[in-house]
Amino acid sequence: MRKTALPRQPDEKKIAGLVRQLLVELGEDPGRDGLLKTPERVAKAMAFLTRGCRQTPRGVLNNAIFDAGANHMVVLRNIEIYSLCEHHLLPFYGSCAVGYIAKSKVIGVSKIARIMDCFARRLQIQERLTEQVAEAIQEATQAEGVGVVFKCRHLCMMMRGVEKQNSEMVTSAMLGSFRADEKVRQEFLSLIK
Ligand code: ZN
Repeated sequence: MRKTALPRQPDEKKIAGLVRQLLVELGEDPGRDGLLKTPERVAKAMAFLTRGCRQTPRGVLNNAIFDAGANHMVVLRNIEIYSLCEHHLLPFYGSCAVGYIAKSKVIGVSKIARIMDCFARRLQIQERLTEQVAEAIQEATQAEGVGVVFKCRHLCMMMRGVEKQNSEMVTSAMLGSFRADEKVRQEFLSLIK
């Protein structure tokens, strides 16, 4: 996990000011009752929804890596995820499944979800999110293989644009034996069905 400087905490006051301007530009009256506190709320929400860009997988892992002799497949599935598409700042959400075959190290199970959120709570595209989660798990565990599948619905597609409400985007990243060995990949895919 490379060491790069993390972005600073966002200035929520500044964001609130920008949101107030946005409301005016949209023809709204930011002084009316329902909107009075909206800029501050949006600023808080945006800071939360992007907090992953101020985290590193190593930081969220906090050394929750354990030695294990076994080398069978570990699968965690139906992990809910929420992210923001970087093209429209609209949510995409869905579920994720992760599998890996440990060589000698396993990862605390709740930490897998934390690694996922570390990458999901950013401005993202689903393809990159999928790869980043797979690579982070590979790097943390030195597993012989890792598989990650995301199935998400994108609000930018559902409520605007082509308005396809039932489309689901599926992305996968397969590393090591999950990529090289058809049997391993099939085992993973059947376990997450
Ligand atoms: Zn989008």
